[in-house]
Amino acid sequence: MEKTLVLVKPDAVRKNVAGKIISRFEDEGFKVVALKKVKLSKEEAGRFYMVHKDRPFYDELCEFMSSGPIVAMVLEGENAISRVRQIMGATDPSKAEEGTLRKLYGSNIGENAVHGSDSPESAAYEIPFFFSGLELVG
Ligand code: UDP
Ligand code: MG
Repeated sequence: MEKTLVLVKPDAVRKNVAGKIISRFEDEGFKVVALKKVKLSKEEAGRFYMVHKDRPFYDELCEFMSSGPIVAMVLEGENAISRVRQIMGATDPSKAEEGTLRKLYGSNIGENAVHGSDSPESAAYEIPFFFSGLELVG
């Protein structure tokens, strides 16, 4: 069993589809082992996305990710990291496959509804960024 961090981004929370996104992951067989709604400061968003600090979109990304509440969760399942990424779809919603969350709910390459850890190393940074061990309830 593998764990991954998923965020419902501010655009999708504003669209009131956080529940639909959580429900989709439940339907796909994942167990929700932690869940909360939080609002990041721009500085916190910057730390979460530190890996992108030299990219041209970093400042805009941090502004967006701190523009409203997000829903953070840890999902558990077989090959959770890659399966979640598949269900999310491509970063750019216009290039995402039909039926993926970003195709369904994303607006553009920045405001793309959902985040999922991209590797075990990312998950190991991202899960404790939001949750303590005590908050993971298998
Ligand atoms: N992003 C952006 N412009 C880009 C590429 C990415 O605004 O040209 C944002 C987008 O919100 C994306 C996030 O930065 O989800 C992280 O980028 P990454 O390449 O890691 O994409 P992801 O792993 O989220 O698919
Ligand atoms: Mg990424």
